[in-house]
Amino acid sequence: MSNPANLTLFMDKNINLLLQDETLDNELKKTALKVKNKERISNEDALYLFENGNLGFLGILANYIREQKHSDKTYFNRNFHMEPTNVCLYTCTFCSYSRLIKKRTEGWEYSLEDMMEIVKSYDNKPVSEVHIVGGVLPQYDFDFYINLFKSIKAHRPELHIKGLTPVEYHYIFKKAKISYEEGMKAMVKAGLDSMPGGGAEIFDAEVRNKIAKGKCNAEQWLKIHEILHNLGKRSNATMLYGHIENYENRVDHMSRLRDLQDKTGGFQTFIPLKFRNKNNELSHLTEVSSIEDLKNYAISRIYLDNFEHLKAYWPMIGRITAQLSLAFGVNDIDGTIDDTTKIYSMAGSEEKSPSLSTKQLVELIKGVNRHPIERDTIYNVIQDFSDYDFSKDLLNGFLELPVVNNS
Ligand code: SF4
Repeated sequence: MSNPANLTLFMDKNINLLLQDETLDNELKKTALKVKNKERISNEDALYLFENGNLGFLGILANYIREQKHSDKTYFNRNFHMEPTNVCLYTCTFCSYSRLIKKRTEGWEYSLEDMMEIVKSYDNKPVSEVHIVGGVLPQYDFDFYINLFKSIKAHRPELHIKGLTPVEYHYIFKKAKISYEEGMKAMVKAGLDSMPGGGAEIFDAEVRNKIAKGKCNAEQWLKIHEILHNLGKRSNATMLYGHIENYENRVDHMSRLRDLQDKTGGFQTFIPLKFRNKNNELSHLTEVSSIEDLKNYAISRIYLDNFEHLKAYWPMIGRITAQLSLAFGVNDIDGTIDDTTKIYSMAGSEEKSPSLSTKQLVELIKGVNRHPIERDTIYNVIQDFSDYDFSKDLLNGFLELPVVNNS
């Protein structure tokens, strides 16, 4: 692994070379100087980067920030996904996952017992987190999720529950006729540990209305995160890009996240999600290139100065782009997941069967000279894999979590 002192020298050299480049556009140079001086860039700067920044330039700035914050550390975690249903009341046009109510028989609808069977199937496996998200249906209501969270905690108290998005919570609380505050307090009491970043899509009302009509709006999405942060819990944020939105919409989206983060500090990780065009109502749109993916990662890293982490979903963008992203601001790769989520494969993601063992993921990270570290959901280090000897470990470095009750 790189010596941190050498790394700093190398980063400084790169950014200084940029600043000495007489052919570099003045606006870009101003942004480079802000990055070097750790100053926040404006919305106008970000828009200018989207419109005029070339990939090499953006990579140098994003990598500079990434290495200032995390040197060459690259995090991953081991989780499993549970999706109670893929039937949904909503009709988001980008969604390849949901089966509408009228096609209900093509989908799945798990009971509480089914969900607990899934949890128990991981009893002897080294996961530290369960990620729960799915479609919106009336039977998956307040009581269902309260009981689910309580049952998971009764069975395996150490398992971190990262559960549901404001899309589900907004619907559930409205149906239960309770306020967001009451609802979120009850969920936390039942065992909710943190909230994933989904359902954000694009905040701009006009675009949102075209792609995600009827579900919670930007203000509601942000409010539910704010309430959770005020209860002392953390959450993530996503942005779905590469469909009908424009660069202004992306900057506006990130700007609202940056503002809320200034207020609460409760976001951990920003996760840009690439729109994929298989099996959905936006299949006529051409997907953006891998260059655009990398550019988007880099500008996110440069703009979101108050977000600690930037994550790439390797099943969505593929292993090669995920490796490249580690030079464009990304410091976290999602995860050693197996085929427990169908969301990406149904949307035509790069990886048809998204599965990597811990060893494969560690090799992927080491393959681009980064330092692989397993973390828990809130970035406590579980295991440093830089010099890990897999040949001596039958469990591939797995750390088991206690299972209190096998019934
Ligand atoms: S994106 Fe979510 S809310 Fe929208 S249709 Fe798909 S499952 Fe339902």
